[in-house]
Amino acid sequence: MLKFIISIIGIFSINVFAQAAPKNVILLIGDGMGEAEIAATRNYEFDSGPGLFVDTIREKASAIVISKRNDDASLIAFVGDSASGGTALATGILTSVRRISTTAQYGEPIKTIVEEAKENGFKVGLVTTAVITDATPASFAAHVNNRYCMKAGDLSCLPGEKPIIDQMLELDVDVLLGGGHRLLSAIKDTITIEEFAISSDYEVAKDLKGFTRMGHSKNLLGVFSDYHLPRLWQAEDGKVAEKVILSDDGNVIFPKAQQCIVNPSSKDIPTLEMMTKKALNNLSTDNEKGFFLMVEGASIDKAAHDSDICGSMGAMLEFDRTVKLAIEYAKIHENTVVIVTADHGGSTQNIHHPYYENYKRTGENIPGLYELLVTKGGNEMAIYYGTNNASDQVHTGINVPIYSFGLPDDLVFKGTIKQTEIKGTMAKFLFE
Ligand SMILES: [Zn+2]
Repeated sequence: MLKFIISIIGIFSINVFAQAAPKNVILLIGDGMGEAEIAATRNYEFDSGPGLFVDTIREKASAIVISKRNDDASLIAFVGDSASGGTALATGILTSVRRISTTAQYGEPIKTIVEEAKENGFKVGLVTTAVITDATPASFAAHVNNRYCMKAGDLSCLPGEKPIIDQMLELDVDVLLGGGHRLLSAIKDTITIEEFAISSDYEVAKDLKGFTRMGHSKNLLGVFSDYHLPRLWQAEDGKVAEKVILSDDGNVIFPKAQQCIVNPSSKDIPTLEMMTKKALNNLSTDNEKGFFLMVEGASIDKAAHDSDICGSMGAMLEFDRTVKLAIEYAKIHENTVVIVTADHGGSTQNIHHPYYENYKRTGENIPGLYELLVTKGGNEMAIYYGTNNASDQVHTGINVPIYSFGLPDDLVFKGTIKQTEIKGTMAKFLFE
């Protein structure tokens, strides 16, 4: 009789488990995606009319981004980087720049949502247009004191510290898609990373052909360029924003307005949308528990560092299309939440067009780098980078947007929040 009751309970509980719909979180991070990068892209592509998909998302709030000082973790640093921002999003804990999910000053590892998801039986994926070991994806699946400790032999690795790619594969991250041919030949113990991945049941792809063949029966490790993936767009003249030229009498001669064109070297590389689709397909197959997927549009930030507005806008549009894809997926898959945010602000500014000025511009009142663009609708837009006079811009400490879709009412982000609150919300949805 007792046996009978136990077997009845067993059948009942198995049925309950089988009926619970899997829970999924898709976190999309626009690297360095501040409101200025969003506005410039909207202006260029849609002449400020509605058009960007993110503009149609009704659940929107603002996240405060700060980090800590590494020399004294009790002090605040008001501007972060992708390592501190990624760590805040992955762990809910503030750290200092360049740290990958380790504490400021002391270097203790901090558990990430990807590690928690693995422990709870979820599948996990990391997709990026940067090298797959870059700070944003790394913050979710590794712990190192310096973000540039990516593979064995990197000078930033402390003695005995395990590089990021080794940790990602040992954690058995189900899907890893991005850039990084150079990672594959690094040595892990006695074999290469590529050999280790294959022996750990990963399907490895290095180009578009291999990507197309990737399925859903194995883990995926896809790297499609030597380092970061090429940017989709570049300026017509191939140049980035520059210092303005001065006439003999010291007045500014503004550059000719130009458009953005497709960067030829971005052809034959899977796009962020294609990689995200592949990841969703892989993670959702034969998965009764659910998944956590992080998708990063990395070049919004990489291009802003180079004062390359076309590079940023091409990446922003690709990221926007990927957000649309994720929300369309969530609309037809129960219990799927989409969260869209940035890790930190960038350096882009949208400034007055020269026609507006009622005084002569001289070299002194345009100290930074400047580019004039013709939008798709034929209007001229002036973009300016002023954190540096060389083409090496830094981040800014502004709030970043946070959009969501599918969160239960009591978890929806409202008003102004701290970036460190986001991880707790995702964990609550997935694990409680
Ligand atoms: Zn950056």
